[in-house]
Amino acid sequence: MSTIDTEVVIIGAGLAGLSSAILLGEMGIKTTIIERSPVAGGLLRSYPRQGVDCAVGLHYFGPAGEGELLRQMFDILGVTDRLRLRRLGTQGVLERYIFDDLTFNLPATLPAFKEALLDLCPTEKAAIDCIIAALQTMSQGLRLDAGGSLQSSPFSFAGLDQSMEEFLAASGCSKKLHDILSVHGFWTGLPMDKCPAYLLLYTLGALLLSAWELGCTGRQMADAYAERAGETGADLLLGDPVEHILVQEGRACGVRLKSGRSLSCKKILAGIHPKLVLPMLAEEALPAAYKEGLLQLAETAGAVCVHLLIDRKLHPAPGYNMFRIHKIDGVNIDGTFLQVRESERPGYNLLTIIRGSEYSDWKQWHDTHTGRRGEEYQKAKMEVAQSLLEIAGSVLGPLGDYTLLDVSTPLTMRDWAASPEGSVYGLMRSVQNDLQYAVLTRMPVRSLYLVGQNAIAPGLLGVTLSVLRGVGEVAGRGKFQNFLAARLAEIS
Ligand SMILES: Cc1cc2nc3c(=O)[nH]c(=O)nc-3n(C[C@H](O)[C@H](O)[C@H](O)COP(=O)(O)OP(=O)(O)OC[C@H]3O[C@@H](n4cnc5c(N)ncnc54)[C@H](O)[C@@H]3O)c2cc1C
Repeated sequence: MSTIDTEVVIIGAGLAGLSSAILLGEMGIKTTIIERSPVAGGLLRSYPRQGVDCAVGLHYFGPAGEGELLRQMFDILGVTDRLRLRRLGTQGVLERYIFDDLTFNLPATLPAFKEALLDLCPTEKAAIDCIIAALQTMSQGLRLDAGGSLQSSPFSFAGLDQSMEEFLAASGCSKKLHDILSVHGFWTGLPMDKCPAYLLLYTLGALLLSAWELGCTGRQMADAYAERAGETGADLLLGDPVEHILVQEGRACGVRLKSGRSLSCKKILAGIHPKLVLPMLAEEALPAAYKEGLLQLAETAGAVCVHLLIDRKLHPAPGYNMFRIHKIDGVNIDGTFLQVRESERPGYNLLTIIRGSEYSDWKQWHDTHTGRRGEEYQKAKMEVAQSLLEIAGSVLGPLGDYTLLDVSTPLTMRDWAASPEGSVYGLMRSVQNDLQYAVLTRMPVRSLYLVGQNAIAPGLLGVTLSVLRGVGEVAGRGKFQNFLAARLAEIS
């Protein structure tokens, strides 16, 4: 068994782990990233089918305009040029919500959103003012100030335990307004009575500031991050999962990998789902009550994703994403996400269809692995895919001749990124959770920190928030802020 010394071990080479490695490397802190998969990128990494790139976990995001949080982060990480960011909603519409009896075009800016809501519900000015003011407050803080601090914390808006349902009830809005606001909750995987108001307002406000998609592929983005991590001095060990986190006198001090190799370090940053950390620790390393509480937290649902090529002339890319809403039953919403964008195949666009899917529906194949799940699984998967194609046909019109590229299920996601139950956004950030789990960047083991979407909030924005916090814990908050301030001064 060989022992390699490094200052910080980073577990997981997803967006969170790689971003953290670049930032720490830029501050002169030596890191070693350990990734279980033979390739880096986690959910960020797209994959090719028949020469066409299929996205896994990055369809769009915001805010990434000049001086906004995600752009600041891309600039600091030194990857902006390689992402070839493309603004969404340039024709005025950012998302189309298709209900049975109503189609609502979500405009691309906050003032236009206000106008659209007033057009739809002219008698509800007071409720609309309240919602818009909240969105404004939340989105305004989405940038780092010159001193390197986030202008305002997402939690500053209201109590962590106020649900979006309660917020909307307090605003006095009608069911129509309620349902429109619910669509975004559905996309973040949360029923409205569990979804913290700050979370929905923060993520919707982010898109209304500016929404973007990648002009490169997810694979190219993952490679850009991995290369930058290497340039800043990080070592990347692929294909060898961390099995044990070594703890001495209450302090995390190393890891043991599946291969038997050990690394000793001063600190550990885990860019993985928090529940995956638990079996890596010895029984006595964590208080039993903390562990039990964490294990009981629910996961966001998994998803079935279908990628297919459709004729570009018949189905031009509309420049906005679509949500077909099937049912809103009080706080629960069932819908399908559709995105049409250019593909690498001349004359064809790529249609991506995503619908939430419970892990329990796939449980009979729990013990199987991708590519070896058998005929029954293929059949079940294709039945769901067929129903999604029918939904797509009802939204877009007849699909014509299409080429099915791939169908993935929550089991695919589970095996790809080790995400428990194949959950899209990891742990459910429910208002019903115990407050000690609201921010998970610090675990009750010294020198062990969590980054990644599960630590604070979902998606690219959530990863960014937890990386800012987790790297600050590791490097020291003052040092990190000085570094960020200096980088921001260089960039502007
Ligand atoms: C279908 C889908 C659609 C999405 N759409 C969007 C979107 O449009 N916009 C958006 O902002 N976000 C979206 N997301 C969420 C986004 O993809 C994630 O927030 C983000 O990629 C999470 O990054 P991460 O680094 O936290 O985790 P991950 O990407 O899960 O990375 C974790 C890494 O850790 C590795 N790992 C696990 N266990 C070990 C171990 N024992 N040892 C070593 N390595 C280990 C994994 O292999 C993986 O590479 C979507 C997600 C999904 C699934």
